[in-house]
Amino acid sequence: MHKILVANRGEIALRIMRSAREMGIKTVAVYSDADRNALHVRYADEAVHIGKSPSNQSYLSVDKIIDACRQSGAGAIHPGYGFLSENAVFARQVKAAGLILIGPSPEAMEIMGNKLSAKAAAMKYQIPMVPGTEEAITDIAEAKQRAVEVGFPILIKAAAGGGGKGMRIVETAADFEEQMHTAVSEATSAFGDGSVFIERYIASPKHIEIQVLGDNHGNIVHLFERDCSVQRRHQKVIEEAPSATLTPAIRAKMGKCAVDVARSVNYTGAGTVEFIMDEALNFYFLEMNTRLQVEHPVTELITGIDLVKEQIKIARGETISFKQDDLVIDGHAIELRVYAEDPANNFLPDIGTLQTYITPKGPGVRVDDGFEQGMEIPIYYDPMIAKLIVFGKDRNEAIERMVRSIDEYQITGITTTLGFGKFVMQHDVFTSGKFDTHFVQEYFTPAVLQKANEDEALIAALIMQQLLNGQQEVALITQESNWVKNRKDQ
Ligand code: ADP
Repeated sequence: MHKILVANRGEIALRIMRSAREMGIKTVAVYSDADRNALHVRYADEAVHIGKSPSNQSYLSVDKIIDACRQSGAGAIHPGYGFLSENAVFARQVKAAGLILIGPSPEAMEIMGNKLSAKAAAMKYQIPMVPGTEEAITDIAEAKQRAVEVGFPILIKAAAGGGGKGMRIVETAADFEEQMHTAVSEATSAFGDGSVFIERYIASPKHIEIQVLGDNHGNIVHLFERDCSVQRRHQKVIEEAPSATLTPAIRAKMGKCAVDVARSVNYTGAGTVEFIMDEALNFYFLEMNTRLQVEHPVTELITGIDLVKEQIKIARGETISFKQDDLVIDGHAIELRVYAEDPANNFLPDIGTLQTYITPKGPGVRVDDGFEQGMEIPIYYDPMIAKLIVFGKDRNEAIERMVRSIDEYQITGITTTLGFGKFVMQHDVFTSGKFDTHFVQEYFTPAVLQKANEDEALIAALIMQQLLNGQQEVALITQESNWVKNRKDQ
């Protein structure tokens, strides 16, 4: 494997290329019209233009990507996350073209790509499941009966669902039929597959997922958990490792379950087994993601393992070089997804140009991004600007470091989730570790950001007054006014 084509864009394309370069492997970027000047194109050893800006004419085009491999002589493809990363048809075509896909087998992708077949596979190992239906609902009356047994509220989910889409909460039996019809038609139009099933709605859950790695020699290990409970629209926005709530015994139990889930499909490469956990720390299997996750860096920071390098080594046929017992958790890591979104306006994407873009630096700070000052956030793709990841000796230090880094981060021209991230870091419910997936819904309102802005305006006014009174404590004022400026720029 001398040359890898990265079938992705933005921060993840760069992140993959960096590991490949450290391993002495050449990289090939692919790019659409909108990404002509993107950083991943400049970073790669070679770049191939693959089409127009909409992703179905570029990053989702299987033929164009395989062609780009032929043109450049790349022998392997890393799909990153999103786009074609979990597409079994793509995986089969890559194989048929005599290329290596850095990822699991098409069979594993196919089984885990459907929540029902994933559960069926996991059941071979007695993995705890949320009570509900095990098969796609065909008879509404029967399903309603099952919902009554499970107990309302229940959740109707699309078997082919993903990205937090295709879920409906049903509060009472009286609403069941109507919600079922809506769920089926939504699933059909969104995923081309109307299969739905039901699950008990867990009242105050945490989203805990386990990172796994499997090689082609039957070895599977887990790299502990990530807590991804801070979500908006059922989508993650802040992740951390380890979780503040897990006990070593539960961690070991969940880790074993995750390894078993991976074993149920002879999993190879990096994957993530997702669980939902109730207040009594009972956990249930949700699904498996058969790719590198957005939030993988927090695991890298607490384990010291470069997951992309491991993926590449596994794809080369190597045996995983460490055993489960060699792995230990060292310190604490938190990631904030810096989205071009307006938290005050229901987290709707905000487009524009990065007029100022200055990233935080210093001990324990990692920024995975794909933009520079002056660049535009294209409207065609995911509105994530960067991932701000911090590492500390413990959770407290990681939180303090995140707040410091958010204050240093300067972005103007676009509204971002930075201010929201600071709100979360400073909220008692988050710092106590006792938060669940409803955190944003329960505690966040645009007014809290406005309050923070007003506090800053007050500080600015006080500094002004001090200046006018001639009471310059120069060092202090410089420091405070910088702080105010940074915050205002966001
Ligand atoms: P997707 O594939 O769309 O991401 P998941 O099954 O992974 O769907 O669930 C996404 C999120 O939805 C979870 O992290 C959790 O917040 C919520 N969720 C899923 N299943 C349940 C459930 N049974 N009870 C309560 N919340 C749930």
